[in-house]
Amino acid sequence: MRKPTHAEKLYLDFDSFFASAEQQLNSALRDRPVAVVPLDSPHTSVIAASRQAKPYGIKTGTSVREAREKCPDIVFVSARPDVYVKLHNRILETIERCVPIAAVRSIDEVACHLLESEARQAQALAVRIKRVLRDEIGPVLTCSIGISLNELLAKIAAEMDKPDGFVLLDHEDLPGRLFDLELRDLPGISKGMEARLDQAGIVDIKGLWSLAPKHARAIWNSVEGERFVSALHGYAIEKPETVKRMFGHGRNLPADWRAPEKVLQCARLLTLSAARRLRRSHYRAAAMSYTVGVRRDNRVTLEGQFRPARDDRSFLDCLNNLHQKMVEAGEMRNISSVTVVLHDLSAEQEGTHDLFDTGESVKQRAQWESVSDLIDKIRVRHGSKALSLGSTQGPGDYIGSKIAFGRIPEPEDF
Ligand SMILES: [Mg+2]
Repeated sequence: MRKPTHAEKLYLDFDSFFASAEQQLNSALRDRPVAVVPLDSPHTSVIAASRQAKPYGIKTGTSVREAREKCPDIVFVSARPDVYVKLHNRILETIERCVPIAAVRSIDEVACHLLESEARQAQALAVRIKRVLRDEIGPVLTCSIGISLNELLAKIAAEMDKPDGFVLLDHEDLPGRLFDLELRDLPGISKGMEARLDQAGIVDIKGLWSLAPKHARAIWNSVEGERFVSALHGYAIEKPETVKRMFGHGRNLPADWRAPEKVLQCARLLTLSAARRLRRSHYRAAAMSYTVGVRRDNRVTLEGQFRPARDDRSFLDCLNNLHQKMVEAGEMRNISSVTVVLHDLSAEQEGTHDLFDTGESVKQRAQWESVSDLIDKIRVRHGSKALSLGSTQGPGDYIGSKIAFGRIPEPEDF
């Protein structure tokens, strides 16, 4: 394992991103406790709290009711995913003027690789990035920057001095500065992992630091444990790129969207949205699953297979089929949610030819593929309502484009 000689990773994380973004864009919200909530439900919880709301104990996950109890003056703002994505893209361009971005980790977090000369002037670099962001994006949307030997330590450093912070964790800071933190402060130590560590007699970072690699592996029940502890010690542990195994979208259905034909209409939109993402990433899918949620925790899933495809027509045909089967099986009652996932992925160019393919079906499929590509292009150029196969009317506006922390929707999703 390699131990870097200099702090080669920079991690940048915005402070209360969605809430700060709203305050940045709307000066009437500044200096006020603000909570951003999802668009489509009254019984929902906060997805971001502004720094003025945090002292009241309001944070991500606090219910709207609880937030109102804790702070009667709080302003609730509906999330605007399309706005955040545009902002995100401007932010990336701005950061790249100072340092190249190595990985976008979420809508408000990026990791960068630093040259030795940059690492030597770590603080000056952090100051410069913050200044350029302030000039370009605005003074309200602040970020915290951590610089350290690897991405895990840089991310930990970025958390240590929020908001608007900068922390450098270099060799000489380890492990001392880590000992002020709690286990749960570390990214990747969930409540469950904390309990497992506790069972193994590890109750603080000191204990975690002294953990033998083998022991760590046993507690995590995976090589991930060993990697985690080695990363804490400052070894260069590359975070593997997550391999994409599926493209899917799900949706909770409001009361007036629960009739079978409405469920299908929503599923069609989800399918088209997943298909666009699949094409943009240059994949084909050979299977599709269609899941409907019945009441609270009952789910029914049907799966269909087809030749590796990337055109809307193949996916919609499969969906229609699966839907018909659900209806016939009597499953289409009291549906509260619907999810469509395209999986069994292969690269776009890979084996589309099949021994049993007749020339005609190959040609037809190619035609449907070019229709789908054309629709994608028109949507990019003329907006998402310009053209699609079938109705574009869905429950609520932002279909298929909810902000997930693990995935940044692209402008084409809207
Ligand atoms: Mg953040």
